[in-house]
Amino acid sequence: MSIKKITEINITGKKVLIRSDLNVPIENGIIQSDARILAALPTIELAVQKKAKVIVMSHLGRPKEGYYTKKYSLFPIFKYFQNKFKSTKIHFSNNFLDDVVIKPGEIAILENTRFNTGELNNSEILSKKYSNLCDVFVMDAFGSAHRMQSSTYGIGKFVKIACAGLLLTNEINALKKALKKPKRPMVAIVGGAKVSTKFNVLHKLSKLADTIIVGGGIANTFLAIDYQIGKSLHEPDFILEAKKLRDKYNIIVPIDSRVGKNFCKNEKSIIKSPDNIAEDEEIMDFGDQSIEKIVDILKKSQTIIWNGPVGVFEFPNFRKGTETIAKTIAHCDAFSIAGGGDTLSVIDMFNIKNNISYISTGGGAFLEFIEGKKLPAIEMLEEKFKK
Ligand code: AMP
Repeated sequence: MSIKKITEINITGKKVLIRSDLNVPIENGIIQSDARILAALPTIELAVQKKAKVIVMSHLGRPKEGYYTKKYSLFPIFKYFQNKFKSTKIHFSNNFLDDVVIKPGEIAILENTRFNTGELNNSEILSKKYSNLCDVFVMDAFGSAHRMQSSTYGIGKFVKIACAGLLLTNEINALKKALKKPKRPMVAIVGGAKVSTKFNVLHKLSKLADTIIVGGGIANTFLAIDYQIGKSLHEPDFILEAKKLRDKYNIIVPIDSRVGKNFCKNEKSIIKSPDNIAEDEEIMDFGDQSIEKIVDILKKSQTIIWNGPVGVFEFPNFRKGTETIAKTIAHCDAFSIAGGGDTLSVIDMFNIKNNISYISTGGGAFLEFIEGKKLPAIEMLEEKFKK
C-alpha cells in the first residue's frame, strides 16, 4: 500500500509538524551521540529550505508521564540545533499545546512529548491538540513507528494531511529492498543475548534467507540442543523451539567457541569445540574455525541482514567474532542492512558506518518490520493516503 511523502506536498508557508526520533543519549546535559539527530536532519533541512514553519517534536527517554524532569528535557537538543542552524531562528517551546508561534523558515523544538499526559496511551484529547498545531504532519521517527502513541499514531486521525519524512521513506525502501526481492544468496545474522526477544525475527528470517547465522546467547541456545554448555548464557525454555528451526532451515551454529570462566573485561579466552565445554566455563564468542566458515559464507552472499553482536564484544578477548564479521560485511559487495541498538554500537566501535549499505535507526521498529508486523505509524499513513 502507498503513503504520501513530504516531497509530494507543497509545504511552503505552512505549519509543518515533524515527529522526529531525537531520542539520543544525554549525560549531564551533554549529547553523547548525535547519530539519531543526524539521521533526522535531512527532513528538517528540507522543510526549512522550503520556508515552512517547522515544528519538531520527539520523545526522549522514559520520564514519568505528566511531569517535567530536567534529565529528559529536549533543551540540550534545542542548543544543538542552534549550533547547527546558525542562520535560522530556533525556538524552544515547553508550553506548546495551545499554539506554536513561528514564522516561515524558522524552527521550533518542542519539549519532550512524553511529558504530556496521554502521550503513551494515545489519548484522543492530546492527539487532537497536536493536530491543531499544524497544517501538515510529517511522521519521520522510524525508531518510534512501532509505537501506537499520540505523537506517532493518534494525531493521524485528526490532522488534515499526514505524510512520511525522508528518513521514514528511506527506512521503508531499504527494508523492502532487502525483504521483498532480495538478491540471493541472502544471509541473515542474528546475534545478541536472548532468543526469546528475537525468536519471531529468527523465524521470519529463517523462511526468507538462504542461510541464517546465529551468534551470542542465541547461538548458545542452539548449541544446548546437543551439548552441555557449562554456564553459558542460554534459554532452556527455547531449546525445543530452536531445534524445530534448526531441523527445518539452514541455520549455521558455531563449530568452535571462545570460552572463559568469569564474565569480566580482562578474562582470557580459550577456543573449545562444543563437546568440550566444562561446567564452569561460558561461551562468549565464536572460535576461529567458525569465524572462517562464516566469513566465507558472507563473501559469497548478495544480501545481508545483520542484527546483534555474535559475542561479548565489550570484552577485548571476546570481540574477534563480532569484529571480523562486522568488517567482512563492511567490505563485501552484498547489499547490507544493519539495525538494532547494540549493532549500532558495534558499527561505531569499528568505524564502518560508511561501508554498510543501510543502517536502520530503529531497534524495536527494525525487528518488528522484519517480523512482518504492520507498524502503527505506517498503517496510519496508509489509511490517510486511502482517504
Ligand atoms: P541484544 O541487546 O539482545 O542484541 O544483546 C546484546 C548483548 O549481548 C551485548 O551486550 C553482548 O555483550 C551480549 N552477548 C553477546 N554474546 C553473548 C554471550 N555469548 N554471552 C553473554 N552475553 C552475550
